[in-house]
Amino acid sequence: MAFLSSEPQTFTGGCLCSAIRYTISVPALSSRNVIDKALPTPINARGDTVDTRFPFIFLDHCQDCRRASGAPLQCWFICPQAWVEFELQHVNGDGTRSTNASGVVSNPQKELTDATYLGYYNSSADAHRCFCRRCGTPFSWSSTTPKPSSWNNGDLVDIAVGTLDQESLDRVKPDRHGWWDHGTEWIKKLVSEGDQGVLIRHPHGRVSQQVQPDK
Ligand SMILES: [Zn+2]
Repeated sequence: MAFLSSEPQTFTGGCLCSAIRYTISVPALSSRNVIDKALPTPINARGDTVDTRFPFIFLDHCQDCRRASGAPLQCWFICPQAWVEFELQHVNGDGTRSTNASGVVSNPQKELTDATYLGYYNSSADAHRCFCRRCGTPFSWSSTTPKPSSWNNGDLVDIAVGTLDQESLDRVKPDRHGWWDHGTEWIKKLVSEGDQGVLIRHPHGRVSQQVQPDK
């Protein structure tokens, strides 16, 4: 995320009902490795670039993530699992449990999924998707496929950007598209070119105008 300042930063978020909460602690720029062989990250339309480091804010056009999220386009905060700490509310209402991401998103123990609202689905042999069993919010994706050792970042986790708290969400913005060739044309056009001012902008959720009575 090239626009992130060089200082350490914290991002927080969670599911709709708050049974699942997380904190992402992004280290200072000097502690974040440059990702070997990664394409450089553009920082403006003139073609200037910087070295690529985690986190990525990744618009994901793949059809699996579209369907799993229920939204036309998923967006991920991708970072090393070591940066993420979860707090999981107990089903019996008896407090919370703090757990590192590695124990939550890739291989949670049955004891943990029974005791908390952590839901878990293997969407393919090496892909793990987590969600809240109480409110249904999907919040992570991870893979057990080994990463190149040159990345030197350990296992990664994708956190759904839509689950960030508003104050955290305000501090991120996408820096890349993923699975571009697999995307849906109108979605790609909308996110890359905007709505050209054509779409109606309802200030609220109402779709009908209040009819003013004749005087
Ligand atoms: Zn929830």
